[in-house]
Amino acid sequence: MTTPPIAVIGAGPAGLTLARVLQRHGVDGVRVHDLDSGPDDRPQGGTLDMHAGSGQTALEAAGLFDAFLAAARPEGQDGRLLAHDGSVLFEHRAAPDEADNPEIDRGQLRGLLLDSLRPGTVRWGAKLVATTPTDDGYRLAFDDGSVEAADLVVGADGAWSRVRPLLSPAVPGYSGVTFVEFRVDDVDERHPDLAALVGRGSMSVPYANRSLIVQRNSGGVLRGYAAVRRPLAWAAENGLDDGDPAQVRAVLLEVFADYAPILRELLVRAADEFTVRPIMALPVPHRWEHTRGVTLLGDAAHLMSPFSGQGANLAMLDGADLARLLLEHPGDPDAAVRAYEELMLPRSATAAQGAATGIERAIAADAPAHSLRFLRSLENA
Ligand SMILES: Cc1cc2nc3c(=O)[nH]c(=O)nc-3n(C[C@H](O)[C@H](O)[C@H](O)COP(=O)(O)OP(=O)(O)OC[C@H]3O[C@@H](n4cnc5c(N)ncnc54)[C@H](O)[C@@H]3O)c2cc1C
Repeated sequence: MTTPPIAVIGAGPAGLTLARVLQRHGVDGVRVHDLDSGPDDRPQGGTLDMHAGSGQTALEAAGLFDAFLAAARPEGQDGRLLAHDGSVLFEHRAAPDEADNPEIDRGQLRGLLLDSLRPGTVRWGAKLVATTPTDDGYRLAFDDGSVEAADLVVGADGAWSRVRPLLSPAVPGYSGVTFVEFRVDDVDERHPDLAALVGRGSMSVPYANRSLIVQRNSGGVLRGYAAVRRPLAWAAENGLDDGDPAQVRAVLLEVFADYAPILRELLVRAADEFTVRPIMALPVPHRWEHTRGVTLLGDAAHLMSPFSGQGANLAMLDGADLARLLLEHPGDPDAAVRAYEELMLPRSATAAQGAATGIERAIAADAPAHSLRFLRSLENA
């Protein structure tokens, strides 16, 4: 099906799902532009659980659900909550048939989506730098000097979206919590004690305005986040931005000095690659007046803290829903975008409110009280 040009900015879960669902139904006018130089430009990071009713629904719409199941780790649904002295406060072991939230590595998920697209759909090394309205759409300028025209511009370009300002003046604000991401490699062979500590899924150890959150990834890798409630300037003031892993490790070991020795070993044995991630979020609710020819998906529309566990799931559902509505309104993309925004804006506001409350309560002075109550309530639900 030949359609007016649709320019998707961003080859993350949102933009790739949109492109895939459209192409699966014969739409050939969709192009994805990403600033990365290629699919392997940067490590994709940790693991994502794909929820029934959102991420899984999008994977079904993309025709990729079976491929997802083949790569997914259902045992990754296991969870452990530990006290800072290392004692176990709560443990969930996934039943063999539990299928609500299987985990998949981010890189594997991106690979599934990319491999499903027609060759040449994604234009790599194309950073959007300017958008100018024209009589029938937008003129897009990229940092490689190229210029493209599009009838519909879809901003799927994440937290610092260059498309968002066309619709909204909102910018992400600091949540009060900084994550320092770390990785422990080859745990089955070299660190079986840490492998046993974390188990098959995830472990979190929230205590007094901090937490250690560690997830089992594929390939014998543990990926963790040392989370601290500190001012935004904390990382820079303590030399965490200087690129010296010894400095980062020393600061983290001091911050987590009162945690049990086996928990601190995660930081001691982490690879020499730490990434500082201040957790940012858009205001809640984030809305805009419908504007012809442009819309937002995923984090560009509703960046929220990871404490909803829904960011990538909603991003993919956004992509699948917008594709479905474009297909249901042939020749009238404006009606499709209106219907998409009416569906997406309320549901993302609910999730974003949950994420804001979640981070407030989980990384708190009285932690782990909230996390324990929350997990017990799930068990009794
Ligand atoms: C620590 C952490 C843990 C998380 N854990 C989970 C989880 O367990 N479950 C979950 O569902 N979500 C989780 N999330 C959230 C999830 O990562 C995001 O919600 C999701 O990646 C959003 O997808 P997206 O496609 O909207 O944006 P992104 O994944 O950010 O992709 C945006 C793409 O746009 C490109 N881009 C950006 N600017 C431009 C430009 N100007 N021109 C061209 N291209 C551009 C980027 O290169 C990128 O490829 C977590 C987030 C964090 C920070």
